[in-house]
Amino acid sequence: MTLDDWLREARARIDSRDAQVLAAHALGCDRAGLIARGLDPLADPARATLDRLLERRAAGEPVAYLVGRREFFGLDIAVGPGVLIPRPDTEVLVERALECIAALPAPRVLDAGTGSGAIALAIKAQCPRGRVQALDRSEAALAIARDNGRRLGLEVGWIASNWLEAVAGEEFDCIVSNPPYIRTGDPHLAQGDLRFEPPSALASGEDGLDDLRILCRQAPPRLAEGGWLLCEHGYDQAPAVRALMRCAGLADVASWRDIAGIERVSGGRRRGGD
Ligand code: GLN
Repeated sequence: MTLDDWLREARARIDSRDAQVLAAHALGCDRAGLIARGLDPLADPARATLDRLLERRAAGEPVAYLVGRREFFGLDIAVGPGVLIPRPDTEVLVERALECIAALPAPRVLDAGTGSGAIALAIKAQCPRGRVQALDRSEAALAIARDNGRRLGLEVGWIASNWLEAVAGEEFDCIVSNPPYIRTGDPHLAQGDLRFEPPSALASGEDGLDDLRILCRQAPPRLAEGGWLLCEHGYDQAPAVRALMRCAGLADVASWRDIAGIERVSGGRRRGGD
């Protein structure tokens, strides 16, 4: 059997792009390399490796966990079953944060519930003058995040903390978060990649807002004057999150749409400053 034969068979069972990503990963080449090698015979152990990956993907395991990687904001982020897989939806959160800190000479940024570190690392990569800190309650997640920072050569302060408890004495110009926000009984939790991701990174109480409530309580007192709180949330949660932010005393509360046109991020700023 050749590589092309394997790809053809794989395409009958899984998405064709997934098949290419798995093959490129197993063979240690990029997707262009697959074309060059298409007619090469596919022998063991490569074939056995590919077949194992195909079985696991066909059983639903996320491609990002199978290859241990996902690209986010142009960065190669290592991921594993202990962290949420970065989503393109979340790039709007990074873009908003970068706009909020654009005018500051040395912005202090906090990513709350960082997981793989993707958001904090993307902000640090785009804004090297920023002092970026990131926290997570999960030590396993922090280990992955710290390794990502080291491999990418990006300096972020990693903090073990249940939400903002460990940064009670600090002040930030921008606090960002992609918290868990799915309703506990939501059928999506039993579908697709979500089945394999850490439930603690996904679900947040009956209305999905438990952690957003905590953030809207803990974050505003940690903001510098004029500082922003920016949170990702579910497709239908923007009005509720805006209300939480207004109740918390934040000003200029607004929401922004993701690449699919859905209000995905809401934010507000502490009064004062400019
Ligand atoms: N955006 C993810 C999804 O619905 C959920 C991420 C989260 O809960 N923060 O697939």
